[in-house]
Amino acid sequence: MKNIYFITGSQNLYGEDTLKQVTYDSKVIVEFLSSNLANIIQVIWKPTVKSGEEILSICQEASIDPDCVGVITWMHTFSPAKMWIKGLQRLNKPLLHLHTQNVEQLPYATIDMNYMNLNQSAHGDREFGFILKRLNIFHYTVVGFYKHEHVISDIKRFCEISKAIDFSKNLKVAMFGNNMREVAVTDGDRVESQIRFGWEVNYYGIGDIVDLVSGVTRDEIADQLNEYKSKYQMNPLDISEIEEQAKYEVAFSKFINETQIGAFCDTFEDLHGLKQLPGLAVQNLMDKGIGFAPEGDYKTAALGALLMKMAETRDGATGFIEDYTYDLSLGEELELGSHMLEVSPRFAANKPKIEVHSLGIGGKDAPARLVFDGVTGPGIQVTMIDLGTHFRLIVANIELVQSRNMPKLPVARLMWKVKPDFITGVKAWLENGGGHHSIVSTALTMDDIDMFAKLTGTEIIKI
Ligand code: MN
Repeated sequence: MKNIYFITGSQNLYGEDTLKQVTYDSKVIVEFLSSNLANIIQVIWKPTVKSGEEILSICQEASIDPDCVGVITWMHTFSPAKMWIKGLQRLNKPLLHLHTQNVEQLPYATIDMNYMNLNQSAHGDREFGFILKRLNIFHYTVVGFYKHEHVISDIKRFCEISKAIDFSKNLKVAMFGNNMREVAVTDGDRVESQIRFGWEVNYYGIGDIVDLVSGVTRDEIADQLNEYKSKYQMNPLDISEIEEQAKYEVAFSKFINETQIGAFCDTFEDLHGLKQLPGLAVQNLMDKGIGFAPEGDYKTAALGALLMKMAETRDGATGFIEDYTYDLSLGEELELGSHMLEVSPRFAANKPKIEVHSLGIGGKDAPARLVFDGVTGPGIQVTMIDLGTHFRLIVANIELVQSRNMPKLPVARLMWKVKPDFITGVKAWLENGGGHHSIVSTALTMDDIDMFAKLTGTEIIKI
């Protein structure tokens, strides 16, 4: 299990009795956090740091521990922040500055200077906050009594996001084919993506998949078809087209196992040797947690995998969507999101149906795909764009609604209301440069994306 370090700052000025109490109090907090976060992460109590040497040592330990995904710091007493400079400069894990106390209310009848010397996070955490700002260390600050619901909830969020950042730092992404010709927003600086987020994005020829497809056995196809039968409705007349997608999924799965990628993209412009655009195959892989985006959009594929990881211990669906078309009835505006094929069945409101229809683009055989209406309820829409100088996240609140009846539409679809209202929301998305590919999630909230942005130093626009 991944872990986070809980580090308490102090100094040698206070004498042994005070430091003993600091140790005791920090252990009590760690025990409380551990019991509340047990199914997400292990919280490791670390001895109180009282000098620059001890701080450097613990920051180095956290930085090289492969299981450590983040660090929580708390200044129970005053801890002069020049002592923290060297350590914080070495720390390469997400940092949560917990501004709390081990006692909730002041003991007015008995409070004396001993109490003041021991319980002075209001003092010590300001010194610590200053040095974080001065060093420009990316971090998130949580303020409040550690047992209060909002504090626990933010710490839990920090743990989930830190695990996702750890995943991101080790994420490999395969591009089959390049960015779709002439398309701007899906393109980007892959070197910068790797520097900022850790994504190793590499190009592979679609021929690598074609070779694997040609080696798929009858037994492997049968197993894959059984999986489809157990999860989806299908028409026996479509079996040959579905078998073709089954071969693709077996081939992609082998490739994923061999290369250990967590996300990939393809493009309908480069499908040499494949009879169909991968549809059902890709949708079923998205259901298994593989990030995907079409048209060479490596950023959205990687972001999808990262956000699925962030949401892994929560209910709800997360996946790729494309903004397609609107119902512009005044005051009742609705957006219809979908794609040529590749919408994750995690969004399905009911058991998806495998259907075969011609694509009308790309000149390939009619592909099998999953068709379904999407779930309803509150969600977010997130996109990442590359502005040349930096990456920008744009996040909007949406309300997923019951899909209208569209019997001729041969693809999976989500419908939603844009918040706070259609004109404000869509205008802000456009004016901030938000593209047509994004990740929709009913598991995550704007607060999650905001904390991710703060911890990674990424620009964020919250609509
Ligand atoms: Mn597209």
